Amino acid sequence: MERRPLRVTAISIVLVVIAVLSLSLSAGGDAPTPSYHYLVVIDPGHGGKDPGAIGIGGLKEKNITLPIAQMVYIKSLNDPQLRVVLTRRDDEYSYPTDRILAANKLGADLYVSIHANAFSSASVSGVETLVNETQSESSASYHLAEMLQQHVVSATGAVDRGVKWAPLFIGRAKMPAALVETGFVTNPYEARLLQSISYQSKIADAILAAIRKFLKER
Ligand SMILES: [Zn+2]
Repeated sequence: MERRPLRVTAISIVLVVIAVLSLSLSAGGDAPTPSYHYLVVIDPGHGGKDPGAIGIGGLKEKNITLPIAQMVYIKSLNDPQLRVVLTRRDDEYSYPTDRILAANKLGADLYVSIHANAFSSASVSGVETLVNETQSESSASYHLAEMLQQHVVSATGAVDRGVKWAPLFIGRAKMPAALVETGFVTNPYEARLLQSISYQSKIADAILAAIRKFLKER
């Protein structure tokens, strides 16, 4: 519970950074016309009335996924090739399928949904990446999932739980799509790490590196 103020502060810092960056981007008439090669949709899982998994000390999954996604967004701003769009910028709810349909409408090049895991046993930990059950091992979505899994595992040193198939809302995506489970909110060690800015930042860097590698190899 005593960690809550720290988390709130962390989120506030991220929001201030976003505000400053937005201002600096919009300031000045000599800013270059925005151009990018790839439109990437990043989905901070859950939000609003849907907290996602509940972990140690009441830790809510939705409060882990948002700062990580915001960091991916901020870190992407100095890459002229990428335009990152978040499916939510705040603690707000929308249907997962609506998020995918919005990405389809935008004509996004890829879709990454960020989540955190939970299990009945506190000893279970690690990172896994999910693709929709209809995706074959040779599909672009599976390849994207492999990239995400490799990068997040090597950046965090977390247990490698591999790429898995599941019946998922991202099955509606018209672009390569994967869902990364960044750790277990029910594992005491990972619950603590997932709330730290430095660990969230490592995960965000890894997600961005995986996206860049995937797009480069296409
Ligand atoms: Zn989730």
